[in-house]
Amino acid sequence: MTNLRISNSLTRSKDLFKPINPKKIGMYVCGPTVYANPHVGNGRSLVVFDLLFRVLVQLYGRENISYIRNITDVDDKIIEASKQKNTSIEKITTEVTNNFHQNTKELNCLVPTVEPKATEHIEDMIQMIKSLIEKKFAYVNEGHVYFRISEFKNYGKLSNKNLEELQVGSRVEISKLKKNPLDFILWKPALNDEPAWDSPWGRGRPGWHLECSVMSEKYLGKKFDIHGGGLDLLFPHHENEIAQSCSNNSNSILANYWIHNGFLTMKKEKMSKSLGNIETITDVLKRYSGQVIRLALLSAHYKQPLDWNENLLEQSKNTLQKWYELYDEKQNKVENNHTFSILLDDLNTPKYFAKLHELFSLATKGDKNKKNEFNEACRLIGIFNENKETLEKKKNISAKVNEKFILEQIEARIQARKSGNYKLADKIRNDLLKNGIIIEDKLNKTKWKYK
Ligand code: AMP
Ligand code: ZN
Repeated sequence: MTNLRISNSLTRSKDLFKPINPKKIGMYVCGPTVYANPHVGNGRSLVVFDLLFRVLVQLYGRENISYIRNITDVDDKIIEASKQKNTSIEKITTEVTNNFHQNTKELNCLVPTVEPKATEHIEDMIQMIKSLIEKKFAYVNEGHVYFRISEFKNYGKLSNKNLEELQVGSRVEISKLKKNPLDFILWKPALNDEPAWDSPWGRGRPGWHLECSVMSEKYLGKKFDIHGGGLDLLFPHHENEIAQSCSNNSNSILANYWIHNGFLTMKKEKMSKSLGNIETITDVLKRYSGQVIRLALLSAHYKQPLDWNENLLEQSKNTLQKWYELYDEKQNKVENNHTFSILLDDLNTPKYFAKLHELFSLATKGDKNKKNEFNEACRLIGIFNENKETLEKKKNISAKVNEKFILEQIEARIQARKSGNYKLADKIRNDLLKNGIIIEDKLNKTKWKYK
């Protein structure tokens, strides 16, 4: 057994991690709702759970871990975005998912074992609702299906609230279809042009909480090790996931460890789309490399709030630049690297960074072992993933050509081709290539990526 300790929201303590089966570790993390390009607050959740995944990989081996991160591609927010932008839902979800993947790559997040999409699991969701209705944990009312909170005895266990407290705290109920204001939706009817699937309760779509219960069970089983997400998901989302899964499977618990990252804030206020105080990862990438952003996001302990500002980014940039002085392309084997153990104490990144600074000073004094140890310790948290040259190149690119410029060039090329000016079209493509941007034509669309 290893000695990884991790803060567990379920027990409200720092617990020793004991996997159900060390050869089959399961981690489920709530992924993005693909209605708008992810902001750096979403990025924090991505990077924190990527770090935890990396730690588990070190301890147990990648082949023994299933890391599932879902994509919510059916949701009220997506429908709303499609109406506002007058764009098809499919176009929005595809573009945002692509952007999300590009961002995770830049932030050097490892690819999860499976990345299931909600829309690919609708039939499984319908089956689960049927089962919940049969077991009296759910009821149907005018094409809506609700989860019956009063039937689930453990409701509030994760968020440490009892039902009475929650009833008092719940907002004045607008829907007359619910028996209890806390009952939550499992299936809702669709309006004319909304995405919809046939079901025994009419055409409609699933409620958001349901997908995670269904997909975690499908890929990890009825009970698994770790469930993660941002702190905002603890209640009601995770509480509702537990209610659905545990009542359906007569289980006492869904996952043994519930881990929540703290908020990324701006001027001390949670970064969120609804407040409008966001900065997308793509926008920050125009000014700083993914490694700088990653370093900044890991600079505070994952449970603590982290305030996002230019100062933090500049500091991280300077640190990274300094650390790169000792960058070694060769990955030398290090005996007894003690640095890693710092992360075993609840992913203590601030202490880990302090140790990196210390190793850096020792290594600059010429200690070869320390230099190797330093390089290994940097790679372990997902930095030093690019050599100096690529990093420099990217820095120059972002200074010269930003996304707006690239999109303008792509549009100019499309127009040139339309008017038969292929010479100009080729020139635009070649000029972009010289700046490290590759463009590709696929199915009447032009996409771009870094060389
Ligand atoms: P969403 O796309 O809104 O469902 O969020 C994706 C993930 O990002 C979830 O785990 C959220 O809890 C997390 N998240 C959203 N906003 C923030 C924030 N400001 N700070 C940290 N995590 C966040
Ligand atoms: Zn979820």
